[in-house]
Amino acid sequence: MHIEYPHRRYNQLTGEWVLVSPHRAKRPWLGQVEKTPPENLPRYDPGCYLCPGNSRAEGVRNPNYESTFVFDNDFPSLLTPEKSAEIGGPVEDKSAGGPNRPRNGLFTQLPEWGITRVVCFSPRHDLSLPELSQEEVEDVVRTWTEQTRELCSLDYIAYVQVFENKGAMMGASNPHPHSQIWATSHLPNEPAKELERQKTYLREHETCLLCDYLCAEQQQGERIVTANEHFTALVPYWATWPFEILLLSNQHTASLTSLTLEQTSGLADILRRITARYDNLFEISFPYSMGFHQAPADGEPHPEWHFHAHFYPPLLRSATVRKFMVGFEMLGMPQRDLTPETAAERLHALSEIHYKSRV
Ligand SMILES: [Zn+2]
Ligand SMILES: [Zn+2]
Ligand SMILES: [Zn+2]
Repeated sequence: MHIEYPHRRYNQLTGEWVLVSPHRAKRPWLGQVEKTPPENLPRYDPGCYLCPGNSRAEGVRNPNYESTFVFDNDFPSLLTPEKSAEIGGPVEDKSAGGPNRPRNGLFTQLPEWGITRVVCFSPRHDLSLPELSQEEVEDVVRTWTEQTRELCSLDYIAYVQVFENKGAMMGASNPHPHSQIWATSHLPNEPAKELERQKTYLREHETCLLCDYLCAEQQQGERIVTANEHFTALVPYWATWPFEILLLSNQHTASLTSLTLEQTSGLADILRRITARYDNLFEISFPYSMGFHQAPADGEPHPEWHFHAHFYPPLLRSATVRKFMVGFEMLGMPQRDLTPETAAERLHALSEIHYKSRV
């Protein structure tokens, strides 16, 4: 399906539209040019606050960790109910529904509690996901899973967001491979939209939205980037970012905590494949924001929720030209030139052997 005329596509997961303008993809670029990320990082950086044995904010010293390492964010965006109360936050019982009730009409605010953590993938300062071994990435997935389980068990936590911000272009201040986990007392906007859409679809069709979507994509085939027995990576029909990927579990499952041992290993495998393809696209350490969307931890059953991850990379046509979401995109709706089919074709054609390890 190579459509050349402008059209809009409906995002079934969020209920929003994206404008696609394929005829524009060949226009010359006169816009901003980015710096490429540094090629050769040291194995250990004495100035890095994430490297083993180094000190962080206020003199806390990292242990000499050998695989993954988790710590509470030194400058957290969210506070536990206890810490929040220390600086005047409300002392309310979430189970009583107190903080859920908007009370100020036009000026509505609600308290938000939570925990934010950092997960280092490896003691090595210079290796990102595609350069780590299968076993090392499995350790990362297991760490995310254990953290999700622990945070979900807290009575004031309703949702756990695991995400990785990679590259200076995405605002990642430190190249040391790491991700973050933000656990919140309410469901944030993006998963909240997807929850409603998935619930409605299940009610109307008596099947899961993403199970049906995956099946339809497998039949068409043209947007699939890579797959293994347990996961499929594709450029979604409604993709906004040029090389956006939606990663879906092949079996219907709700969260990291419900993955089997084989699925955990399948997830590590597909993460390495996706990120190797990304790095190979422009032969640089490819920047992106990625994260898992899992079922809310609100004590309700969530038969509608299908475990998945989104990769949102900013690069458009080379290592130095990025996509901006400005103007019409801020005020109207997102727009893209390169079609999702073309993006998938390019990503699909790439090798899964990382360019740095090629001989
Ligand atoms: Zn480091
Ligand atoms: Zn499903
Ligand atoms: Zn999602």
